[in-house]
Amino acid sequence: AVQIVLAKRPAGDVTADCFREEKVTLPVLADGEVLVRSRFLSLDPYMRPRMTELRSYTPPFELGKPLTGGSVGEVVDSKNPRFAKGDTVIGMLNWASHTLHDGKGLRKIDPALAPLSAHLGVLGMPSFTAWYGIRHICKPKAGETVFVSAATGAVGQVAGQLAKLAGARVVGCAGGEDKCAWAVREAGYDACFNHKTEHDVGAVLDKLCPQGIDADFENVGGRIFHAVFERLNNFGRVAFCGAISEYQDQTPMAGPPKMFTIVQRRLTLQGFIVSDHIALMADFVNEVGGLVKEGKLKSRETVVDGLAGAPAAFMGLLKGENFGKLVVRIA
Ligand code: NDP
Repeated sequence: AVQIVLAKRPAGDVTADCFREEKVTLPVLADGEVLVRSRFLSLDPYMRPRMTELRSYTPPFELGKPLTGGSVGEVVDSKNPRFAKGDTVIGMLNWASHTLHDGKGLRKIDPALAPLSAHLGVLGMPSFTAWYGIRHICKPKAGETVFVSAATGAVGQVAGQLAKLAGARVVGCAGGEDKCAWAVREAGYDACFNHKTEHDVGAVLDKLCPQGIDADFENVGGRIFHAVFERLNNFGRVAFCGAISEYQDQTPMAGPPKMFTIVQRRLTLQGFIVSDHIALMADFVNEVGGLVKEGKLKSRETVVDGLAGAPAAFMGLLKGENFGKLVVRIA
């Protein structure tokens, strides 16, 4: 078996020497354990903070141990009564060809239901994140303006489309003309600007959101968020999902100036972590699963072939090289 371990904690940008590929012999199973062969590994921004030792909502990855990630795989051996050889499962697995698992948090899925990678994207965690933030925090109403940063990413693409289906005017930003064109043409955004070429974010927001912003689905943080914050309307809502532009900063970035704005405009700024809301999973599956089935929700993914490509693909994710949900197909 092959696995990728955390060789070094990054200081600033993640570099290739933070990872090391190792060959290991397949373990012998104890009672209660299953051996899972990975088919798809999800690469996600939250893995970047987990590479450091800073306090967060998930414990840090351990040095010299395999990194882990949401994965779909196949049970190849089982001494756990809940799983049989041949079952397709989803859960946290190692960045590895094979993972020895105690079965906790591992769930069987029906491989006939959808392409396997969809369970990590449009039918999985990122999409659930988008649904929660839109339905439970942004709560867009018809005619309101909703802003979504990283508009075509795994989370953003679903957030934007859900806001649009709720009748809002939806504006986004993404890192490229191709991404912006897709956002407008395929995902139904009313407008999308390229944050790599538009340097005056405030001016472009004034143009694209002439009525101000009623709800912000925040994925990026930093200067883009500061400009959005200044343009929030009275009773504006911010679903604080992530701040990817800040994940590799070595000195923390200051927040937006004039916090009294929150009072003056009666704003709600709410951070959330999707795993706290698992009890709502069935509602999500009902609504979003239905939309996918009816063809009302578009989705894009970037598939990288082979585990060896995972480190480079992950470094690319932190620079916007992915277009939609980033997954690694494991041979
Ligand atoms: P994406 O598929 O959106 O991939 C990340 C994207 O972020 C890149 O493609 C790039 O898009 C953008 N990006 C990267 N660096 C920068 C930068 N410096 N400035 C601006 N944009 C940048 O990832 P996800 O959809 O999986 O995640 C989106 C956000 O949601 C992240 O912040 C993540 O941490 C958060 N998240 C939070 C969860 C929660 O429970 N709270 C759960 C899941 C995700 P572009 O080319 O458009 O710039």
